[in-house]
Amino acid sequence: MSSNVEKIKERLSIEDVVGSYIKLDNAGKNLKGKCPFHNEKTPSFFVSPDRGGYYCFGCGEKGDIFSFVEKFEGLDFMGALKLLAERAGVELEFNNVNDGQKTEKERLLAVMEEATKFFENGLKSSQQAIDYVKSRGITEETAKKFRIGYVPADWRLLYTYLKGKKFADADIEKAGLIKKPDDEGGVKKEYYDRFRGRIMFPISDSSGRVIAFSGRILVDDGKSAKYLNSPDTILFNKSTVLYGIDKAKQDIRIKNYSILVEGQMDLVLSHQAGIKNTVAVSGTALADTLISKENVVNNLGIVKRLSNNIILAFDSDPAGRKAAMRSARIALSLGMDVKIADLPEG
Ligand code: ZN
Repeated sequence: MSSNVEKIKERLSIEDVVGSYIKLDNAGKNLKGKCPFHNEKTPSFFVSPDRGGYYCFGCGEKGDIFSFVEKFEGLDFMGALKLLAERAGVELEFNNVNDGQKTEKERLLAVMEEATKFFENGLKSSQQAIDYVKSRGITEETAKKFRIGYVPADWRLLYTYLKGKKFADADIEKAGLIKKPDDEGGVKKEYYDRFRGRIMFPISDSSGRVIAFSGRILVDDGKSAKYLNSPDTILFNKSTVLYGIDKAKQDIRIKNYSILVEGQMDLVLSHQAGIKNTVAVSGTALADTLISKENVVNNLGIVKRLSNNIILAFDSDPAGRKAAMRSARIALSLGMDVKIADLPEG
C-alpha cells in the first residue's frame, strides 16, 4: 500500500489536487485560498508545494493530498486512495492481501458491489421492471450509468446468491441486506432479504463505492413502504451522504452551485437531461423529518465545500414545500446562499 501512496504522490502535486477543489492564489513560494474546512472571509489556508502539504492558520487543519481529499470528500483513507489513484493513473496493487486479511469495511464493500451486480442483472431479466424504468423516462444508458437494478418479490434471492459467492451471513447482515427475526422458543429463524420486489438504486459515496441502497416498490401492494432504504451500517451513515454526489461533484464545482432535488427519479432524470450538478436527499437523513436538524447538516457538507450556492427544487405539493423549507433552514444555518425553484404544480 505504501508504494501505492508514493507512486501517487510522485504524480500528483499538492497544488494541483487542492487547486482542483478550491481557488488558490500565489503567495510568495506558497499558495493561499479560503479554507474549505471553516467559514472565513479572508484566506488563511496555505499550500506549500515544497513540503507537499497544506496548513490553515484559522482552524489548524493540515496534511497532504490524501488527508485533504478524505476531509473534503468525507471519505475514509481507502476512498481517497481510490480517487487519487484513478486521477494519477496508478493501478492499485494490494500485495499479500488475501480475503482472510480484508478488513470488515472492505468485506462489506465487496458484499455491496456483488449485490449491485445481482440487482443490475435482475433488471436485465425482468421485462416488467424494464418497462417500469422506461415508463419513467429513463433510458437504458442512464439506467446503466446509475447502476439501477431490480430484485424480484421473493424471500431469499439475494441471500442465496451471496451465499453462493461465499460471503458470510454476518457480513451480509452487517451490510444491511438481510434480516432475521429473533429465534423463538428454540425455533431457529432464517435470514431473509431486506429488499424484495423493488427497483434498486445504489447510493454511492463520493468516490463511487456503493455503500447503501434505496429500493422503490415495483408493484404497490398497499402495505409495503413505497421506498425502503438501507439502515445505517459501518459503510453508510445517512447523515453524511447525498444521493448522486459521486456524479455531481465535478459539475457543482464548475457551475458553482448545486441543485437539491427530492427523489432518485428526479435526480436520475436531471442528470439525463444534462443538469449534472444535481444531488438528491432521498434515502438520506435530510429527507427524514424524524432526524434532528443538528444531525443532518453533514449531508450538505461536501456540497457546501464545493460551492456555497444551492438551489432547492422540490415538488410543489405541501410535503415538498415542507421539505424545501427544512432543507433551506439547514443550508442557511451553514451560511449558504439559498434559492428555491418555484416549480409549477404537476
Ligand atoms: Zn480552516
